[in-house]
Amino acid sequence: SIPLSFFGGLGGASRAGILVKGSNYLEALSDAEIVVMDKTGTLTKGTFAVTKLVPEMGVAEGALLETAAYAESYSNHPISKSLLAAYHKDVDKSLLSEVEEVAGHGVSALLNGSRVYAGNTKWMERQDIQMKEPDEAGTIIHVAREKEYLGYIVIADEIKSDAKLAIEGLKAVGMKHIVMLTGDQKKTAANVAGALGIEEVHAELLPKDKVDQVERLFQSKSEKGRLIFVGDGMNDAPVLARADIGIAMGGLGSDAAIEAADVVIMTDEPSKIVKAIQISKRTLVIVK
Ligand code: ADP
Ligand code: MG
Repeated sequence: SIPLSFFGGLGGASRAGILVKGSNYLEALSDAEIVVMDKTGTLTKGTFAVTKLVPEMGVAEGALLETAAYAESYSNHPISKSLLAAYHKDVDKSLLSEVEEVAGHGVSALLNGSRVYAGNTKWMERQDIQMKEPDEAGTIIHVAREKEYLGYIVIADEIKSDAKLAIEGLKAVGMKHIVMLTGDQKKTAANVAGALGIEEVHAELLPKDKVDQVERLFQSKSEKGRLIFVGDGMNDAPVLARADIGIAMGGLGSDAAIEAADVVIMTDEPSKIVKAIQISKRTLVIVK
């Protein structure tokens, strides 16, 4: 049977905007030792703004953005939303067919009979498209039509206002190891990790690489220690399921992530993870 105070703990958590899907997870949280966090949407807002358009010689800025907006028009990724918002005009979807989206890479579609692409370096390399490798802070989206490189678009995300507090709080409640994982490029990842005081960061990961990283981190924890993964959703369901405690940020999170998670933070505040651990430790003191 479940000790009564666990219900108190679950209730307290829910009043704080933290949905814990069972007292076993509340108990596990008190043994948390390693916290692995996704970047986009978890530590950053996940709402990108276009900061720069860098077309190739002979390509207009408008054509660069238009091609990207058409390529992205069927995607739900935060990157797609930002490019479509910057485009301002409506996309005529009747011009598009054979739309494709590859996790951790980018998108492509047939636009008026020519294939257009938008995505990262890996995505361009996969199509054998020659591109520039700009030295810019921010997330770079490369754009191409057939084998012609049209240029790149820089988009920037913002760190959430309580992210620093969350990392400090996690250290204060005794987390031995905090790790950031992201599909985004190395430079952007290092900037965010540096600003937040996260020492270990792995970038340019595909969804399956995130699972591999978590598998590896499992080897480094104590027998009793538990590993938490926190993500916002987009492609994070496998790694949420693999962690001892999968936490989804419900504010922006996808339905798949909320389904796969053991704990859902109803707001988009990462500091609530600290709160969840505190409630768990307090509840266990009452039980014992
Ligand atoms: P994260 O781990 O930061 O949440 P994702 O796994 O969702 O990131 O995406 C990783 C990278 O893959 C992005 O930073 C981007 O370079 C590329 N990418 C993913 N989806 C798209 C898309 N719809 N358009 C362009 N690039 C994309
Ligand atoms: Mg993501």
